[in-house]
Amino acid sequence: MAVSCAIPKTAIWKPLFPGSRAALESAVILSLLKQRRRRRLRARPFPKEWLKLVQHHVVFFCRLSGGDRVELLGHIQVFLAEKRFEGCGGFAITDEVRVTIAAQACLLLLHRETDYFPGLLTILVYPLTYMAEEKRQIGEHVWEEGTVGRLGETGRRMGSLVLAWGAVKHGAADPSDAKNVVLHEFAHQLDYENHAGDGVPALETSEEQLAWSEVMRWEFASLRAADESGIPTLLDTYGATDPVEFFAVSVEAFFERPRALRAYHPNLYAQLQKYFRQDPVEYSAEPADWY
Ligand SMILES: [Zn+2]
Repeated sequence: MAVSCAIPKTAIWKPLFPGSRAALESAVILSLLKQRRRRRLRARPFPKEWLKLVQHHVVFFCRLSGGDRVELLGHIQVFLAEKRFEGCGGFAITDEVRVTIAAQACLLLLHRETDYFPGLLTILVYPLTYMAEEKRQIGEHVWEEGTVGRLGETGRRMGSLVLAWGAVKHGAADPSDAKNVVLHEFAHQLDYENHAGDGVPALETSEEQLAWSEVMRWEFASLRAADESGIPTLLDTYGATDPVEFFAVSVEAFFERPRALRAYHPNLYAQLQKYFRQDPVEYSAEPADWY
């Protein structure tokens, strides 16, 4: 169906939606208030007890530059003020849990304009691997239902994100095994910021979107082919599931195995480096001769 782009004459003189200007103005005011509240939160002194927890549990923190450490602590303050935590399966939420999760999630926010994972309200934490019902397709018109163990999950319309504390702690303690459930699940949240879960986060220009799509399509197809052929890969083959998981798995490798990713997948590394505006090689714990 053809769509006309002509502006109706009446619209030139009358607002199409009465009240829309007032709605726009109140949205602008709310946004300014939110920004001011966040500036105040970032400027607050970081609690000493929390700092000890970050230094003790989150290994990458002490490898960051001084400026990045300050920025990260500011983001943690906003994150903890805005997100709700709930313990599941009898698990008790402590400051250790909140701060360890927030520090890892906020690594994804450094150096960028951010709205702090706007679709996410609540973080649910289980003590260890939790069981979930899953229905998966194993053939044309054939589905299998069963219970599977999970370490984390989130969804575009869930408003929540689920984590297993055991995996969170392990991810924070080993920053170079390319496995980090917090980075993985929060990468999905970044993917949702442009209102789609498609493996493409919010990019600024159409040129950037085009370059991203070309690189990701090729890299995803390569991972799929390697997975089918049984060829060893740097990227976790879970990323061969679909472009959404490919993005999350790539983010884990970008932050945890940056030297290897840059050596073996330079185009993928370049796209992620441009999006995240940081170079994890500078603070990585990955040994230089590990690839
Ligand atoms: Zn995932």
